[in-house]
Amino acid sequence: MVMRGTLLPMTMPSWVSGEESKPAPMPLLLVQSFVNTWDGDHNSDLLLDPATARDWLAKAGLWHADRAPDPAELHRARAVREGIRALLAANSGGPAPVPADLETLQAVARTERPALQVDRGGRVTLGADPADDPDAGLVTLLLLIRDAQRDGTWPRLKACGNPDCRWAFYDRSHGRVGAWCDMATCGNRIKNRRLRRRPR
Ligand SMILES: [Zn+2]
Repeated sequence: MVMRGTLLPMTMPSWVSGEESKPAPMPLLLVQSFVNTWDGDHNSDLLLDPATARDWLAKAGLWHADRAPDPAELHRARAVREGIRALLAANSGGPAPVPADLETLQAVARTERPALQVDRGGRVTLGADPADDPDAGLVTLLLLIRDAQRDGTWPRLKACGNPDCRWAFYDRSHGRVGAWCDMATCGNRIKNRRLRRRPR
């Protein structure tokens, strides 16, 4: 079992996993935490059960409707999540995303409209209008990715190289050479596996 280290509870928003030992800066942290709603090592998925999903998505500011997401909406959210994970795998030096990885991201970009608001000071922000389409939260994630791709933080958000893990982590290493969510667990685990596979 992977123990990715524990953070002080006060330092992170409530929607961040307690195992987030390599958090991205805000607001990219929201994209990372969304990807990490699936935890392969503990075989848990916060976007499977409607009530659990509503709880997490509402805390993260990605859900504003007065109801839980329906199965089709959850299916879409999970597809967006795995599409983003494919992008993070490419950031880690993995294969470029294939068209199927991008399909749902492209569908969301095509059909959803971000709820933009202009406040009294003229600042343009993403609004949280309960009347909005519930899928609008997924567009918020796309906008955060766009911003990160512009400001240069995006290539540092990666998926762990352990195929059983694929946890999203933020690589702060010099030269962006990090490959594991945690060297002590996933890194050594893969290394040991490779050693075992070597012919005697
Ligand atoms: Zn890992």
